[in-house]
Amino acid sequence: MIRPSRIGERIESLGKIGESNGEGVTRLALSKEYKDAQALMMSWMEEAGMQVRVDAAGNLIGRKEGSNPDANPVVMGSHIDSVVNGGKYDGTIGVIGGVEVVQHFAEEGIVTSHPIEVIAFCEEEGSRFQSGLFGSQAVIGAIEPGHLDLKDKDGKTRREALLEFGLNPDDIFHEVRRHQGELSVYLEMHIEQGPILEKENHPVGIVTAIAGPTWMEIEIQGKAGHAGTIPMRMRQDALLGASEIALALEQICLDYAGSPIVGTVGRMDVFPGGANVVPGRVLMSVDVRDVDRNRRAFALEKLRVRGHEIAQQRGLEIQFSERLSVAPVACHPEVVSVMVEEGRNMQLECPMMISGAGHDAQLMAAITDVGMVFIRCKDGISHNPKEFAEVGDIALGTELLSRVAYRYAMK
Ligand SMILES: [Zn+2]
Repeated sequence: MIRPSRIGERIESLGKIGESNGEGVTRLALSKEYKDAQALMMSWMEEAGMQVRVDAAGNLIGRKEGSNPDANPVVMGSHIDSVVNGGKYDGTIGVIGGVEVVQHFAEEGIVTSHPIEVIAFCEEEGSRFQSGLFGSQAVIGAIEPGHLDLKDKDGKTRREALLEFGLNPDDIFHEVRRHQGELSVYLEMHIEQGPILEKENHPVGIVTAIAGPTWMEIEIQGKAGHAGTIPMRMRQDALLGASEIALALEQICLDYAGSPIVGTVGRMDVFPGGANVVPGRVLMSVDVRDVDRNRRAFALEKLRVRGHEIAQQRGLEIQFSERLSVAPVACHPEVVSVMVEEGRNMQLECPMMISGAGHDAQLMAAITDVGMVFIRCKDGISHNPKEFAEVGDIALGTELLSRVAYRYAMK
């Protein structure tokens, strides 16, 4: 039996590590709190009968052998690092849920044919070295030496942090990597971090695709001047141009009615930045996400064209630079259909949905078939101390995870 009380207790105990009075959980990768969290997870993995190790990238891996020594492992996982002042459900439920599945099999005397692994990936959030999905990148062989030179806010490099944690960073390049065909499937349960399941009143959703973000930086150059002396018609106000571009982005995304594309301007730096100065220069960020790579590219192209028009009308100069482009990823259709079927067997109607946020599953898709289960969370709030999900919902998701893992592990 999947035991909701055990799941709930584990979420609470793990949530205490890095918790400070009402400020939520701050558990940065490779920190003292991270070590404590790994030790606790490790004890639960051992309790579930798994062999446990930490690889050179700081991923915690529990493994239970199956009866067939030649079979590839069924892998479940997520992460146990957090953002600064985050919640106790983000990431953790995927790891705790995975361990629950293995423990449930052990308690029922189920011996799977395939081995089962549960992985708590290192630094998914990127809140310490500002570069997320580190552990899963290491597993798929996508780490570059430069990733180890990134510094945290105290000036410590990731390489130094790994060494201090007792790991050998040079081993990342040959020891950690898993290849295409070595895993039989990767399954991840995660809180939705959005409002859809709650609004539609479903505890569990099935993810069909994970959107990929493109980040663009736009620089707009106008002319700074005195806010009192320059007539309105004679201004080259960079912030007004930037504002029009932000509104244009909203309209471009809205025009794709019924599609999941979203566009956000989350940052504008205004120079020189005085209350009595006409803004002469603006740096703005643009984040556009979609599950369809072409649509995302078209939307950005439209923004570029609109941006040049706006700049011309206002006598501004404009420059676009792409900062990041992550390919969207589809969950494997077979995994999705097994999930739908097992959901039905549980009398659960699980809506199909996309993930707007990135997850380790997105990278694992490079080497194996992936599937994701989403859990309803309160008010869609995440990366926030107020983050909350019902243990009952998480238990239902774990049951679904368990059924799907069983199907793959008995193949
Ligand atoms: Zn997460």
